[in-house]
Amino acid sequence: VTSLSRVFDVSKPWLNRVLERRPKALLTAVSEVDFEVAPRSTYALVGESGSGKSTIGRMLVGLLTPTSGEVEINGVNLATEQDADKVDAIRSDIQMIFQDPFASLNPRWRVRDIIVEPVVARGGDATGLAEKLLEQVGLSALDAGKFPHEFSGGQRQRICIARALSSEPKLIVCDEPTSALDVSVQAQVLNLMSDLKDNFGLTYVLISHDLTVVQHMADRIGVLYLGRLVEEASPEDLFANTKHPYTKMLLEAAPRMDGFGREATLPEGEIPDPINPPTGCAFHPRCPLATDVCKAERPKMRTINATRVACHLAE
Ligand code: SF4
Ligand code: MG
Repeated sequence: VTSLSRVFDVSKPWLNRVLERRPKALLTAVSEVDFEVAPRSTYALVGESGSGKSTIGRMLVGLLTPTSGEVEINGVNLATEQDADKVDAIRSDIQMIFQDPFASLNPRWRVRDIIVEPVVARGGDATGLAEKLLEQVGLSALDAGKFPHEFSGGQRQRICIARALSSEPKLIVCDEPTSALDVSVQAQVLNLMSDLKDNFGLTYVLISHDLTVVQHMADRIGVLYLGRLVEEASPEDLFANTKHPYTKMLLEAAPRMDGFGREATLPEGEIPDPINPPTGCAFHPRCPLATDVCKAERPKMRTINATRVACHLAE
């Protein structure tokens, strides 16, 4: 908790919410997930709630530590690197944006102080920075003296983005950045994120339950099911040349989203308990193509053309 509050210097209610949302069984929340994010690209992690996508996001920014495995950034393994300055420098290159822009803004702080906090915490000069960043995210420099409650949801997410940008990060992990926003506002925020990515040379890990949200932004999409990566492809291949039965199910379910971008329950049954996942292919209880092999053996990730897929029948 100390280190969490040191990294983000958050207000206590916010911190409590993060802790509440922590998965109960970290050991099995995510398993054998392995992917690479190219610099200046957008990598989308997509899955239903309970798929482990937020857990992975929190591992990337250091809010959670994997019990085994590695997070390596620019060749530095954050878990084993002994040089604290090196780790610190990399940490300041990574920021996170959360789903609920209100919960992640301290209500008693002025917007100016919220935005420059990551810089001030590191002893940097923040003169005029908040005003400049507010304009870059499509708000006004005059907003710097206001409080979070004076803004709409979309504006608050812009403030969160400004704060994330203040320490000049290279990588931003965005956990459902538009899911709490009205549909009309979602596209505006996504467009802003695209523009900022180009202007600042950013790399994004974009976490979402909604394939259609990430379709136009992502360079690669990784589909997660019960803490496992089941398919990874370019958006074009994922949509036109879908290889995994679960991805197919997600795509077929997409129009059944409730229209507000909220997580809708898929028709073919609930996700099993991630603490005690099914044997073999974790998707087999819901898979229309499941065979005996699927129940017994966990499918290995293999590469077919430019797609990576973990399914016994993928070929
Ligand atoms: Fe379905 Fe078997 Fe492929 Fe799993 S491995 S997705 S159960 S066909
Ligand atoms: Mg989540």
